[in-house]
Amino acid sequence: MEPIDLRSDTVTRPTTAMRAAMLDAPVGDDVYGEDPTVNALQRRLADELGFEAALFVPTGTQSNLLALMSHCERGDEYLVGADAHTYKFEGGGAAVLGSIQPQPIPHDADGTLPLDRLAAAIKPVDPHFARTRLLALENTWHGRVLPLDYLKAAHDFARERGLGLHLDGARLFNAAIASGVAAREIARHFDSVSVCLSKGLGAPVGSVLVGSAALIDKARRWRKVAGGGWRQAGLLAAAANHALDHHVARLADDHARAATLAAGLADIPGIRLLGQFTNMVFIDVPADRLRELDVHLREAGVRISIGYLPTLRLVTHLDVDDEGVVRTVEAFREFFGGR
Ligand SMILES: *Cc1c(COP(=O)(O)O)cnc(C)c1O
Repeated sequence: MEPIDLRSDTVTRPTTAMRAAMLDAPVGDDVYGEDPTVNALQRRLADELGFEAALFVPTGTQSNLLALMSHCERGDEYLVGADAHTYKFEGGGAAVLGSIQPQPIPHDADGTLPLDRLAAAIKPVDPHFARTRLLALENTWHGRVLPLDYLKAAHDFARERGLGLHLDGARLFNAAIASGVAAREIARHFDSVSVCLSKGLGAPVGSVLVGSAALIDKARRWRKVAGGGWRQAGLLAAAANHALDHHVARLADDHARAATLAAGLADIPGIRLLGQFTNMVFIDVPADRLRELDVHLREAGVRISIGYLPTLRLVTHLDVDDEGVVRTVEAFREFFGGR
């Protein structure tokens, strides 16, 4: 039996139809701007999200980094969630490669960064301080969809304070589908947005950064500097285009399966359900049983992230079907006992 891999939505493999689309893609040299499939992907996402331009890049980490380096100069500062991917899970790239100082801000439980906390963190204009230039938000954040009225308030705040506003929208489409709005309604509050095609959308590789033409020109230069100038990338852009054509609306299935999974796990004595948000389920189990649980689940053909976050996270995606959800709940039930 195929293992059920709930560690992340990055583990999806290209479908047969996606592979066929990749084989057929017209390609050219993207460093020369001549790959028609890359250009089509960039154009469609810029248009769909309401921006002038877009840039296809290998990873979400690079996309965020290029955005930060395009908004900020050496010695500038960006405000970012203390548990945000760009701050915590990207190797400190903004500081390491961009000479940009992060100012981490504690999140509220819903993933928002309270505006009074942000206001208090903005530095005075004075040679003692880094220049506060940018606010970076993340949506979804650990599966949570940031409220639209918060995004509007953050936008107005950033405008008043002269800050740029970047969204790490790795799972922007999960947020859009879960709130029943077009992705553009979320993206419109930002100056730049990074979207991952390689998460629940199921492409093997790739993210897209959207922004103004001037911002994307800078990002393209930094992409080359970072070694991300790729050539016949249309093969990968074809997978991304296929994902956008076929795998957006179905994110609702992942959310529904996560809800079913959460309900099933919540019933099992020994498991504390912490929450289910879009395609993610968070649970707590007794710490002294973690190692044993890990072994049991592996033997049962179920993989989850153990030890990477303080709680256990299970993520649904394209390669997890209803049967996979049933098998996962069964595997937990076998371990903890119960009905
Ligand atoms: C996955 C992810 C990224 C980018 O990750 P890559 O593995 O570099 O593509 C950025 N932000 C968030 C919130 C993510 O989940």
